Amino acid sequence: MPTRRKARPEEGNGDALSTYRAKRAFDETPEPGGLVPKAAPKPGGLLIVHMHDATRLHWDLRLEMDGVLKSWAVPKGPSANPADKRLAVKVEDHPLEYGDFEGIIPEGNYGAGTVIVWDRGVWMPLEDVGEGFEKGKLLFELRGYKLRGRWTLIKLKKTEKEWLLIKERDEYVSTEPYSSESVLSGLTNDELRNAKQRVEPIKKELEKLGAPKRTLRVEDTELMLAETRADPFTWRRRVPTPSPRMGGCSRSSSTAIGCAPRVRTGSRFCIRARDSTIRSHFRRSRAR
Ligand code: MN
Repeated sequence: MPTRRKARPEEGNGDALSTYRAKRAFDETPEPGGLVPKAAPKPGGLLIVHMHDATRLHWDLRLEMDGVLKSWAVPKGPSANPADKRLAVKVEDHPLEYGDFEGIIPEGNYGAGTVIVWDRGVWMPLEDVGEGFEKGKLLFELRGYKLRGRWTLIKLKKTEKEWLLIKERDEYVSTEPYSSESVLSGLTNDELRNAKQRVEPIKKELEKLGAPKRTLRVEDTELMLAETRADPFTWRRRVPTPSPRMGGCSRSSSTAIGCAPRVRTGSRFCIRARDSTIRSHFRRSRAR
């Protein structure tokens, strides 16, 4: 058993996050320790849905309440079809900083497996939250990249932790399944797990091209931002090429396709994301 790291001074003891911290060995897992929760001035706030490929694949719905992310594990994931009532099991509160967490929880640790930010946005309660918890019914609006419109969480009677997540009827109802990639990195859980294999071919190509080698720290690297141009771009002119910055796409391609934030991959390399975009871009270029 690994020894549990003591809470840092800025971390509360016996606050809403003590269960979260007690379950994790922070010298082994890359997950955040969690600062003392500070409640937002008004109800609602951050919406996060993690897709977590652990012992069993599940989604973690997280809604900001009282300065923490109230969390439910949804084994089958959210459905935009009101006919699908999805079991949502209440789990321990997570720190707000967990909202940005995407990575690999190492073997032997709590929740070992890959975690991606499957959706992110804001949520707004449509009824009083305190009363909702007492009654066991929360009605709210979600404004994520994937989850939109009105949803309900209903607690099953005679259970402690079991709720149902149901899509309410509105213009966002659909029978189409949601896409499975991260809204932050564009990676799927499998791609995140296999990041090392994906980096190897790029590394070999760069060595072949004689690219200079040096250690890169994520903190020191700048995001490549989109730039304005005088003329509109054409797909033909913009085929992404791996660049010596190990980012994966060159400056010219980044203006065309945009570059998502980098992700920690567990190795010392970073994948610059949206590979699915890059791949489809390649396909389109080849088709001509
Ligand atoms: Mn989970």
